[in-house]
Formats: sequence, C-alpha cells, structure tokens
Amino acid sequence: MEKPQDSSIRYIKGIGPKRAEQFGAYGIRTIEDLLYYFPRRYQDRTHIVAIFRLEEGSSQTVKARVVSSRARQSFRRRGFSIVETIVQDGTGSLHCVWFNQRYLKDYFKPGQELILFGKVERYAGRLQMGNPEFELLESGEDEVVSAGRFIPMYTIPPGMTQRYFRGLMKQALDAYAGRMAEIMPYDIRTRNNLLNLARSLVSIHFPEDLDRQQEAYRRLSFEEFLLFQLPLVLRKARKQEKPGIAHRVEGSLLETFLSGLSFHLTASQRQVLQEIKQDMAAQHPMQRLLQGDVGSGKTVVATAACVVAIQGGYQAAFMVPTEILARQHYDKIIRQFASLRQRGKPVRVEVLTSSVSAKEKQAVSDAIEAGTVHLVIGTHALLDETLRFKRLGLVVIDEQHKFGVGQRALLPQKGPSPDVLIMTATPIPRTLAITLYGDMDSSVINELPPGRSPVTTMHFSRDFKFQAYEMAKQQIAQGNQVYIVYPVIEESYALDIDGAKKMYEEFREGEFRGFRLGLIHGKLSQKEQEQIMKGFTSGEIDLLVSTTILEVGIDVPDATCMIIEHAERFGLSQLHQLRGRVGRGTRQSMCLLISDTTTPESQARVKAMVEHSSGFEIAQEDLKIRGPGEFFGRRQHGLTELRIGNPLTQMHLLKRAREEAIRLVNADPGLQQRQHLLLKERLVQRFPEYERLMLVG
Ligand code: ADP
Ligand code: MG
Repeated sequence: MEKPQDSSIRYIKGIGPKRAEQFGAYGIRTIEDLLYYFPRRYQDRTHIVAIFRLEEGSSQTVKARVVSSRARQSFRRRGFSIVETIVQDGTGSLHCVWFNQRYLKDYFKPGQELILFGKVERYAGRLQMGNPEFELLESGEDEVVSAGRFIPMYTIPPGMTQRYFRGLMKQALDAYAGRMAEIMPYDIRTRNNLLNLARSLVSIHFPEDLDRQQEAYRRLSFEEFLLFQLPLVLRKARKQEKPGIAHRVEGSLLETFLSGLSFHLTASQRQVLQEIKQDMAAQHPMQRLLQGDVGSGKTVVATAACVVAIQGGYQAAFMVPTEILARQHYDKIIRQFASLRQRGKPVRVEVLTSSVSAKEKQAVSDAIEAGTVHLVIGTHALLDETLRFKRLGLVVIDEQHKFGVGQRALLPQKGPSPDVLIMTATPIPRTLAITLYGDMDSSVINELPPGRSPVTTMHFSRDFKFQAYEMAKQQIAQGNQVYIVYPVIEESYALDIDGAKKMYEEFREGEFRGFRLGLIHGKLSQKEQEQIMKGFTSGEIDLLVSTTILEVGIDVPDATCMIIEHAERFGLSQLHQLRGRVGRGTRQSMCLLISDTTTPESQARVKAMVEHSSGFEIAQEDLKIRGPGEFFGRRQHGLTELRIGNPLTQMHLLKRAREEAIRLVNADPGLQQRQHLLLKERLVQRFPEYERLMLVG
C-alpha cells in the first residue's frame, strides 16, 4: 500500500471523482491532507442538557425528537423564509428556527431523533434556538463516531453533512493513521513530552476525553511550529555564514547628520540605532526587522543607517511601496541632508519610480551604476533587472507588508551581500516577532516623539455622518487640515476611484462648498499627485479627498482630522495605518469613522479603533478578530499558514519548537542524518521554497 501522502483520497470508500474535486478545493487531495484537516471545534455531547434545564443565553446541546416542522415566509422581511421545528425530549419542548434554509423543511420528519447545538434564546415568551447546528441520529450508528463524546465539527464543502465527513475521517484514520510515518525525531519527542503522531491524529479527530485532545493538540501544534521554524532558522544560519560588509559606523558624516536634525532622537530611537550600528559593524550581513507604531519615527533611524553606509563609501537603497511616499521621503531627506552639504560633505540622493521618464531613469540608473548616487529612494522600480549598483551596502525596505516575499528578497541581490533593514508599522509582541520573523533580528521603537497626544477616535453611523462633517469644518476653521478617505473596493480599482471622485464632486457642490478641496488617487500621474500633495502640505488645500493611496507613510503634521467613509470595509491594521496620518504634530487630532457596521467582525474592528490608540494593542485585537492563521498568513512571511498552532496562546510551545529547530540546525545543518530524513521530506513536500533554501540560502 502506498504512503498516506501519496495516496489519493479516492482510495476512501464513498469518494468519487466529483467529491474528490470538491475536496481538492479545500486543499484535501491525499489521505495525509485529510488526516491533517483538523476540526474547527468540538461539540460536547458528554453534556446533553434536558430541555427543561436549558438556560437562556448559553450555548447548549440537546437530544430530542421532532414533533413538527413547517416552513413559512417571514412576517417582517419579504422573501425571507423560516423553517420552524418543534422538538421534545420528555422533559419539555423546544422551538428551533432556521432562516432562509427552506430545504430543511423536508429534512425533519416527525419522530426522528436529532442532536441540536445552539444558543438558547427567549422569543415571544418561549425558549428557542436560532439556526442551531444539528444532526439526525440514526439507529445503529457507529457509537465511536457519534454518541456521548466530543464530536468534531469541520468546515466542509456545501452539500455534505458533518456526519458524512466524520465517517470518511473515521475510515481514513482506521486504515491509515498507523501508517503515518513518525516524522518527529525521537529525542525531540521525549525531551518535549510529545504524543506520537498516529495517536495524536486519532485523538485530535475523535478525542476520548479532553486531556487526550489537549495532548494531541500540543503535539500537532509543536510539529507545525517546528516545521515553521526550521526554514527560518536555517535561512538565518545560511545568512550568517556569508561574509558581509563591516561598515565604518563611527564617523563624522553620521555625527553631522544627527546634530543637523531639528529634533533629538528619542531614547528608543537611539537604542535602535545602536543595535543597527552594531549589526552594520559586524562581519556578517545584517537582517533586521524594525517595528514601531505609526509616527514613531522609523524613517529617520533608517536614514541614519543609510548615512552610516554612505560614510564608509557604500551606496544605500531605500524601497517604499508608493510613489507619493518615495517623493515625500526624498523631500524630507534632502532637507535633512542640507547640514551635510553645508559642511562640505554633499550626498547625492535620487528618486526612482516607474513614472519617472525613461530618459531620466536612464540617467539615474547610469549614475547609480557609476557609484555617484549615494542614496536612491524608490518603489519596486528599484527591482528592475537592468538596475545595477556599484557598491550597494545597505537595503532598507519600508512598510514591508506591502511587498511580496519574493520582491523583498530581490533588492538585496543587487549587491554581494548588503545589510538589510526591514520596517513595519504593524507591531506584534516581541517574543512573537522573534519567533515569527525567525530569520531576522528584531528592534522595536516603543515610544512616540514627545508632545504627541493620542488621536481621539469616534464612530458615526451613516445617518449621523453630517456630525462628522461639522467637526471637520470646525477643524478647518481653526486653520487645520482634513483628510477624507474612501475605501478600496477590492473587486474594482476603477470603481474605487469613481467613488472618491463622486464624493469629491458632491462635497464641492454641497457639504463643503466654499472650502478648498483636493482629490488624489492612484490614476493621476505622478506629477499631478505631487502637485496635490504639495498643495496640501503647504496649506493651499483644506480638505483632501483620497483613496487609500494615503494609507502608508504620508506625513503632513498640520492635518488634524481624518474622516474614513465606509470604515467597515477596511481591515483593522489598515484603519490604524490611516489614522496614523493625523496626530503627527503636537495638535490634538481626531479620526472619525463613518460606517454602518454590518458584521460582528466589522463591529469589533470599529470598537477596537475607538478604544485603542497604540499599534501594539491594535495588532493584538486584530489577531483576536482574524485569528492567527489569517493574521500570520502566507502573505506575511511566505512560508506556511498555521492551521492548528496558535502563536498567541501557545507562545511557550512556539519558543520550545524554535529552540529545537536551532539545536537541530546546529547539529545537522543539511538535515542529512537518518533520524532527520522524514522531517526533511515533509518540509520539502509542504514548503517547496524549502528546497531552494537548502540550495541557495
Ligand atoms: P513612521 O515611524 O510612521 O515611519 P516617521 O518616520 O514618518 O514615522 O516620523 C513621524 C514624524 O515624526 C516625522 O515628521 C518625523 O520627522 C518626526 N520625528 C521623528 N523622530 C522624531 C523625534 N525624535 N522628535 C520629534 N519628531 C520626530
Ligand atoms: Mg514610515
């Protein structure tokens, strides 16, 4: 018989080509995929509650028989159907209702026994469950799969029942669990007290009791964390082997730059700069992640790092996600470098973006190749294959989450082995950062420059948005400036711009008549964008209507008010980023969210924004709302999604897995020892990137 990872799920009785295709869409192709498809949660059937004991407000499980079932139209909402079923268990009767699931009408036959799970509510004076999960019980059903235990509930393709899926899982486990090779080396297993794989798989799907489920959960999470850490640790080890540049970190250029700034670095900025200097001085290439809340002053620290590289005769490249940001950084850095010029140490800075004219681009590229440009700031245009550096010594990547993992890796390849500094404004707790960005060292700026007061955030439903507009007008009357942001509608970039345009027209004719309005969006040429930003920065524009092009980095200290339309359409981190565009000066600022929140998630996001001002808190809330799987999804680190492990609640286990990964890589860098071969096989199978990593590093 073939190995589970090579056997198609079609080996399982009851899965034909059509089902197989459905499962394929859920990432389940092989038996191993199926066994690693974990329950979303369990239904506790060890606690079946008698109907007369049901408590209002809690979620409970009931076992009862159908008395009657009917479908009707909703009285209140047209076209809305309701299936009403009454069940009894000998101690009382319970109403169950399902909305818009008409097909259920014929599903429940009087006399049929079923298990129901749902929240108990009081409605029209009687107890009822709304949209309960349910399962019909058949006589003679396999005891092990069902009765009196913790029953796994899965996310399953439509048209399948939980019970059917459970049956497949049971079959697969019976036939294959014992055949799953134990990939975890024996010493790691004993050191960490881990259950073996076969038993873990059985117990995660069909736990005998909660203790056993916990053990299985621990083992499988550990395995996931280990597989997740190994490539990171390995990558870090590979990088450290490579010879890098030992930069000259002490020198007059850096001193001149720092003393020429119009402010003093905060203690936290100084500390981080120290860490960066240490890395840059060292012989191996820096790989550092710099985290800091929006407005904490990451840019100036990164600029100082560029000055260090330039001081020793190297070039620096600073990559940002948008043209506006590139231009803004350029303007700021030019001003900050004025002190260098005055002291007779001119530094040449250039911008390179996709909308720079071909001729200009050529000139800049040539100068970079000749080595006469010291610092180039640009968008992904910097990744252009034809661009070559003479002596690239440092790469800075701002707002790293805006770039794909592949893109992030490209720029450093333009030098023999430059130092790399990556910045992000979506801060996560330090221990998490160390483990999740395990191939990098991490620094945190944990304070804001002095004099900033937190932005006041308020929520308005759409019916009351005029109140928000009134507040904006007051701000303008006091000589301040306002942003109004219109959301990206994922499906249609063009629509998004239309929305902002329409809003701009309406405002100009109506609500904000007589004020000086501007409109900015990504379809405008770079020149036009620049002009408008200039107008806003210099105070010629009172109110700037914008798409999310503003999201990252924009820095206009006189803007004190941001209105976000359709706030429900934004992610939490994105809202926080947007809010970071105000509160950048010393004046009290406000962020006004306009939305009719429609889902519990969007409500939670708005609430988090109103209650929390620090990016660390926002990140925590975001993690809670989205769950770690999505938060740390493929986009973030490019390796894997976590399916079962939860870095937040299992931080300790994650750390242990990391320690084991480090131990393993130290002892056997190529994973070539016999006891590591299965682990390596799994790594290559799960993360094709891994193979490349082993070869390239
Ligand atoms: P972010 O971390 O969001 O990238 P920036 O680097 O854009 O933040 O800095 C926000 C603003 O604060 C900028 O206008 C910057 O010049 C200013 N700033 C940075 N550091 C300090 C400081 N130590 N004191 C006062 N202002 C500072
Ligand atoms: Mg920034």
